[in-house]
Amino acid sequence: MSKATIFDIQRLSLHDGPGARTTVFFKGCGLRCAWCHNPESQHMEPEILFDATKCIGCGACVGLCAARTAGPTQFDRTKCFACGKCAQRCPTGALQLAGQRLEAAEIAHIALRDRQLFHISGGGVTLSGGEPLLQVEAAAELLHILRAEGVHTAVDTAGDVPWECFDAVLEDTDLFLYDIKAMDAALHRRVTGVDNARILQNLPRLLRVRPVVVRVPLVAKLNLGQVKAIAQYLSSLTGELRVELLKYHALGKGKYVRLGRQFVEYAPPTDAQMRVAAAEFERRGVEVAF
Ligand code: SF4
Ligand code: SF4
Repeated sequence: MSKATIFDIQRLSLHDGPGARTTVFFKGCGLRCAWCHNPESQHMEPEILFDATKCIGCGACVGLCAARTAGPTQFDRTKCFACGKCAQRCPTGALQLAGQRLEAAEIAHIALRDRQLFHISGGGVTLSGGEPLLQVEAAAELLHILRAEGVHTAVDTAGDVPWECFDAVLEDTDLFLYDIKAMDAALHRRVTGVDNARILQNLPRLLRVRPVVVRVPLVAKLNLGQVKAIAQYLSSLTGELRVELLKYHALGKGKYVRLGRQFVEYAPPTDAQMRVAAAEFERRGVEVAF
């Protein structure tokens, strides 16, 4: 039995593959995308989100540990080891633990609660994150259980993992969601913190064996200029592929604040820019939606 560190299991998700889905969010990611709206997904270790505006000063968490000694609204993050005790006691949700270790079978049990809905809507379960393939043993086991139960499975990946990770989950994965963020290597490093060579190597190989939805997040002044090169690259690939353009939004701002991290806001592309971007794919014969 393998365990995974996950930070959320979201029911009724309509944007992570076909039909109504349950999305399992794995913690830990090798990339640090400038626009990331799930900052609590990035580090593998559990961490506490603290929302001072929700604290009613009840004192239930005060004195539990060295991080919570200075008063209800004071939180010394440097002394927190994310045991989660304070979050369990907090009556308002001001303290929340992101990250718990669960066995693959436990996660499957939770995800399968909506199997009737999957059946009616043509949905299923998507493993997302973070990067689910960084915890490949547990991901593979979870997918295997779900497929044995007749559930459609999808894996949402940034693609920056050794090919062996794909090999480990291929048999039990119906669909991959795969991010492409920039073709220019230097720009990719600047906006994600990593090189794109392995990502671009894995995608054609994956397309030979599974259908892929390529997701392209677009941020006005960061990677909008990459659309033409991405469309060119994707139109040169063979396999069952379609593209989803994801317009940048700043909805993750509150999570940065609750994690005590700095938030940098970017401008989203305009609707007109999104239409122009989509047209770049269409005129090359690549199916696209946004
Ligand atoms: S998670 Fe544990 S260590 Fe961190 S503040 Fe809460 S009680 Fe203290
Ligand atoms: S338990 Fe929650 S509401 Fe009560 S003092 Fe602590 S953070 Fe505030």
